[in-house]
Order: sequence, then structure tokens, then C-alpha cells
Amino acid sequence: MSDNKVENVVIVGSGPAGYTAAIYAARAAMKPVLYQGGQPGGQLTITNDVENFPGYPKGINGPAMMMEFQEQATRFGTDIRHGMVTGVDFSSKPYKLTIDDKEEVLTHSVIISTGASAKWLGLESEQRLNSKGVSACAVCDGFFYRGMDVVVVGGGDSAAEEATYLSKLANKVYLLVRRDELRASKIMQERVFEAKNLEVLWNTETVEVLGSEEVEGVRVKNNKTGEEKDIPIQGFFVAIGHQPNTDIFKGQLEMDDTGYLKTLNGSTATDIPGVFVSGDAADKIYRQAVTAAGTGCMAALDAEKYLAAEKII
Ligand code: NDP
Repeated sequence: MSDNKVENVVIVGSGPAGYTAAIYAARAAMKPVLYQGGQPGGQLTITNDVENFPGYPKGINGPAMMMEFQEQATRFGTDIRHGMVTGVDFSSKPYKLTIDDKEEVLTHSVIISTGASAKWLGLESEQRLNSKGVSACAVCDGFFYRGMDVVVVGGGDSAAEEATYLSKLANKVYLLVRRDELRASKIMQERVFEAKNLEVLWNTETVEVLGSEEVEGVRVKNNKTGEEKDIPIQGFFVAIGHQPNTDIFKGQLEMDDTGYLKTLNGSTATDIPGVFVSGDAADKIYRQAVTAAGTGCMAALDAEKYLAAEKII
């Protein structure tokens, strides 16, 4: 249970957004506490090389990069704690956070940086070959498949965008669509149909990703005819949507119908004063490490302003 100490700011999550918020908050003498959550370091810890984060001209391994974020946040005095925030109560001040279903922490302000998780098909082969040819981010990993053949799974804007992006790098892109139409917006569909090296396979589902050490192909099935075939590929991109990690905020904060938290007036403020959100938990469009870090910085500045106005710091 709580020892009645009230923290200035608790940061929930340890991806680029959370650690950047921590760096700024710690340097502003806000004494931030950060809970790392179930996947310390966030989505980048399941990426190999990160080559598009400014400041790393030679690229950097995803987990190594997140260790550097953590080291920088620690250097300025962030109190980094293991543990998952499993419940919140924003109905009265100070706000209450439940850690690992048992401990309670009180805080004047909160920065939510819980991120999002890519949805996966749920195949054993997809999991086994993750980061060995299987990816959920074309912008992050597409570069490694220059001149190769790849598959993108999905029919929404993400899949259309990823397939179009990859068509500029890869030799051939197959877009596997489970129905006979795309869900993607008209303009994105046009781009898909215009790309010469992009072939849409309609009514097509993935049976298995093939390969032992790395992706070598995909077995697909036409769900109208039942016909199965193997396609040799080197990259397998899943783009069937993301799920923001915001379940614990349901009923407490305003969110859109897909669970992304809503912010006010181009800031990181939510509808509860003193509760801010950064990174993918509020971003369904950009979803990049650098944009997450940017909004982490904004959230720390917004929280600092709030705490000063409340005469807490
Ligand atoms: P969506 O939920 O819009 O689309 C998911 C797609 O994946 C659908 O086509 C769906 O098929 C398919 N799918 C779902 N599960 C499976 C499965 N198990 N096997 C095969 N296919 C599957 O997600 P998006 O990430 O594409 O988009 C999310 C939101 O973000 C949307 O609002 C979108 O407009 C927005 N967005 C906007 C962009 C932009 O404007 N530049 C870029 C990216 C996203 P089915 O259609 O049959 O349900």
C-alpha cells in the first residue's frame, strides 16, 4: 500500500517517449519516477538495426539504443522502477496508480508512454522468425530488403502504405489481402495499383512463414478455392494494425474508438488536468521512435508547467 508520499510525476512506460520525458523531467528537477512496464525499452527492443534515428550515422541495434536512453535518464536522477502499472484512479487528486496489482503510488501528475503493440497473425513460424525476416515495420526494416522479394499482409492504410513504401526498395512486393477488396483509403489504393512491382493476391491468407533460420518463403492459401502455394520471399511484413496499450485507462480518459488517447489543443494534455500522454499511445499516424521521443519531451514540458502552476515545484 501507499506510504502517503506523493510523487511529482510518474512516467508510465519505457520506450523512447517515456525515457525522453524522464530525461527532461529529471533535468528540470521534477524527480520523476518511471515504471518500465512489461517490455522494458518498448517496441525497439524487438527491432534489430535502427538506422533512421538522427545522431546514429552508422545505425544502432534497437535494444542497445534503449539501454542508452535508460542510461541517460538514470544519469539525471530518474527513479527507474521495474513493474507494471495495472490500474489507475484519476477521479481525485493526488492520482493513484496500482503497480503489479498490489502496491499503490500517489502522484501529482502522470505521463503516459505505454506505447502500442503491433498485431500479429498468431502463427508459430511468424513468432520464431521475428526479426529474422519477419517485421511489423517497413519504415524501420524495409531498407534491408533492397532488391529482394517481400510480402506484406493486410488491407488497410498501414498495409497499403507499407507495400507502396517497400515497392520502391524491393524487387517485388506481394500484398496478401484476405478479402476481395482493400479497406485502405482511395488514394492509398491508387498508389498500390500504380506500383508496377506490387502484386495484390486477393482472398489470400498466410498458412505458414517458411524458413528455419531466416525467412525463405511463405505458404499461402486462397480462401475461395482452397488452393495452396509457396512463394519464395526474404521479407514478411505484417501490417494488420496496431493496438494502443491503453486498456487500463478505459473509463478514465477520453480515447477514440480504437483506444488511442485523445490530446487537447495540439499539446500532450488529456482531459484530466495533470495527466499527459506521449508516444504511440496517442499516435496512430507517425509511430516513429523520433516522433515518440519528441512528444515525450513535450509531455515533460507540459507537466513541468502544470506542476509550477499548481505550486508543487
Ligand atoms: P486497419 O484496422 O484499418 O486495417 C487492418 C487490415 O488488416 C484490414 O484490411 C484487415 O482486413 C486486415 N487484417 C486484420 N486481421 C487480419 C488477419 N488476421 N489476417 C489478414 N488480414 C488481417 O489498420 P491500419 O493499421 O491499416 O490502420 C489503422 C488506422 O490508422 C486507420 O484509421 C488508418 O486509416 C490509419 N492510418 C492512416 C495512415 C495514413 O493516413 N497515412 C497510415 C496508416 C494508418 P479486413 O479489411 O478484412 O478487416
